[in-house]
Amino acid sequence: MRIRAAVLRHPSKPVEIEEVELDPPKVGEVLVRVAAVGVCHSDVRHADGDLGPGRWPAVIGHEGAGVVESVGEGVTHVAPGDHVALCFVPACRSCRYCLAGKPNLCETVAEHGARGMLMDGTSRLRLPDGTTLQHGLRTACFAERTVVAAGGAVRIPAELPLWQAALLGCGVVTGMGAVRNVARVQPGQSVAVLGCGGVGLQVIAAARLAGADPIIAVDRVPEKLELARAQGATHAVDAAEDVSPASSIRQLSDGGVDYAFEVIGRPETIRLAWDAIRPGGTAVVVGLVPDGVEATVPAVEFLSDKSLVGTYYGSGDPAAELPGLAALALSGELDLAGVITHVDGLEGVEAALDRLRRGEGARTVLLVDRALAGYD
Ligand SMILES: [Zn+2]
Ligand SMILES: [Zn+2]
Repeated sequence: MRIRAAVLRHPSKPVEIEEVELDPPKVGEVLVRVAAVGVCHSDVRHADGDLGPGRWPAVIGHEGAGVVESVGEGVTHVAPGDHVALCFVPACRSCRYCLAGKPNLCETVAEHGARGMLMDGTSRLRLPDGTTLQHGLRTACFAERTVVAAGGAVRIPAELPLWQAALLGCGVVTGMGAVRNVARVQPGQSVAVLGCGGVGLQVIAAARLAGADPIIAVDRVPEKLELARAQGATHAVDAAEDVSPASSIRQLSDGGVDYAFEVIGRPETIRLAWDAIRPGGTAVVVGLVPDGVEATVPAVEFLSDKSLVGTYYGSGDPAAELPGLAALALSGELDLAGVITHVDGLEGVEAALDRLRRGEGARTVLLVDRALAGYD
């Protein structure tokens, strides 16, 4: 079928909405009519070529929600009409990482995903001239419809508006997982969050739900620090004004925080996270650092039991956790609407990427189908 989608032809060119061909779902795949998609900083990394070479031409977009339109052979966990959030790591459940309880690191997904293919190693997307298009992050959801691996379509309650549910599959899973699965923050522990964009705000919300205190938000944009306070930050440090954010964090936390979350993806802020933690503390790098960039820390400080750890996609079982996260949003404990600073149509994708490049606002949600998304 012919659909409209955001195509990345080359990182030197803006992403444009084009007509492309989408083939029907094969065995173990699901066709989803996309309602809404969040625009995430990883989309900027993809669009700018920072994920490394060979990641185009592609339909990009990975943080979406919609309604199942049809299912391929063998798919039983969802049916047409079901509301789903998209999960960009549709774990195979049989590789060594999946069997070891690390489905976020699924080897099968990594193998085909790096080439932008679905789980059988092929694509359902083509340009009208026949050129194969990659499925950006296996999700390709800056589009009216998408075909995803069955594990990438996770059923959620229909009561949760899809324009909010869109955020579950990247920002929420990633931010909540960093706090719950990686740091395992306990009540009363101190937390700093560097970068208060779409994912950072979810880290703050998760820290609040975990009972962390203080929760120190750091950003260069006052508007984002306000959003951080609304999500539960107890203190805000404006890194554009503050000459030494690390000293400020240490002062506010009696000598350093238990956990610092870096949610930007830059060497300087990884170093800041390291400098902000106390002896025995842990710096968690959540941000996506461009391919080829290195980060350094003064290694003598490993002697004070400090840890620097990474995380990918929440470091848990994203598909299994999504329904619980949807329930938290439905109960009001998680405020998804509150982190959405802009809404637009699908054609607003490049403008949304530009806002992220400028560090402006938190999340833009593109309403691909305004009525289906349940907006207004
Ligand atoms: Zn993302
Ligand atoms: Zn696997």
